[in-house]
Amino acid sequence: MARIVMKFGGTSMAGMERIRNVANRVKAEVARGNEVAVVVSAMAGETDRLVGFCKEASALYDPAEYDVVVASGEQVTSGLLAMTLKAMGVDARSWLGWQIPIRTVETHAKARIESIDSETLIAAMKAGQVAVIPGFQGMMDDGRISTLGRGGSDTSAVAVAAAVKADRCDIYTDVDGVYTTDPRIVSRARKLGKVTYEEMLELASVGSKVLQTRSVALAMKERVRVQVLSSFDEPGDNPEPGTLIVSEEEIEGSDMERQLITGIAHDKNEAKIVLTRVPDRPGIVASIFGPLADAAINVDMIIQNVGHSGIVTDVTFTVPRSDVARSIDVLEREKPVIGFESIITDAEVAKVSVVGVGMRSHAGVAAMMFKTLAERGINIEAISTSEIKVSVLIDEDETELAVRVLHTAYGLDG
Ligand code: ASP
Ligand code: MG
Repeated sequence: MARIVMKFGGTSMAGMERIRNVANRVKAEVARGNEVAVVVSAMAGETDRLVGFCKEASALYDPAEYDVVVASGEQVTSGLLAMTLKAMGVDARSWLGWQIPIRTVETHAKARIESIDSETLIAAMKAGQVAVIPGFQGMMDDGRISTLGRGGSDTSAVAVAAAVKADRCDIYTDVDGVYTTDPRIVSRARKLGKVTYEEMLELASVGSKVLQTRSVALAMKERVRVQVLSSFDEPGDNPEPGTLIVSEEEIEGSDMERQLITGIAHDKNEAKIVLTRVPDRPGIVASIFGPLADAAINVDMIIQNVGHSGIVTDVTFTVPRSDVARSIDVLEREKPVIGFESIITDAEVAKVSVVGVGMRSHAGVAAMMFKTLAERGINIEAISTSEIKVSVLIDEDETELAVRVLHTAYGLDG
């Protein structure tokens, strides 16, 4: 017997037929003798619709009332699922955020979970009752409803799994797992059986949007074993057909033949900014990135060349595409302080990253990447690395080619 938290996203909850499918999956998990809590999203599109109403009501809507409105989508699906389960003869009840309670802190509309009272939930689960919990919502100290920010149900599920000490948190979504790369680009991409928290964080942050990044960080912190799987596959006999996101130790013990590189991600959401002829003296870099940080603009890759004359240099960096206009604004304002000559921007770039914990103990991963791209005449415009990731910035038009040749070069083709 195991204790399982199952989470179903918006597409899995969109309409009664799909909710009945979800109920069947939950029933099968209960029939296997497991204790089950279910965390649900609102029906696909519903939260957008509710947000739309708020904007219509008032351009400067009150975030506390916004939470009251948008949290309702999950209240509907949790009630419907509990009802459907009971009609199928499965004991179940809904537990709204304030009833458990799931206590949150900081601000409305982007609250953070502080604690979850797990006693009652665990008692109900032990008694064989399925606990159906609306994702995305919690309660502030003053008793008011809060929500966690868009996509927050993944985080709710992981937090509930941590609180009830679940053996696994199964996240059912519209893809059947995490792949070595985007299967729409590389048809020979393989589904990964296991991936580490660290790798998943890197893959998520560079464009594999299977899970909300925040939920992966929480899973890593709380050591929650997460499984991503499809809610549209035939249930079958195998209870673990998706991708498991677990600690490095768990993987090392089980998979000696692991590849050096786990996956290749791409991200077309960044743009490149070059500041030309910046004075090469102490404090200049701070004068560029300080104001950008103050404007909450997230800078990713940074290159500063050594100036030939020792007097001026170019500084290149990337920011989210949606922040280019604001970045230019900030930099133009600071021009007298920074003293650059011109700003050149290029949004037609893509970041391609190879990710794998294996590279910690192996040399040559980056060299292989550069060589592989060079052989295809792909120019590298910027580079950044972490302990388990090498990223390059290239021309957007070459993204698919780069991903494909790298997938082959690192032996990932299935
Ligand atoms: N329903 C919320 C949203 O669409 C939360 C979630 O589904 O994760 O953002
Ligand atoms: Mg989601």
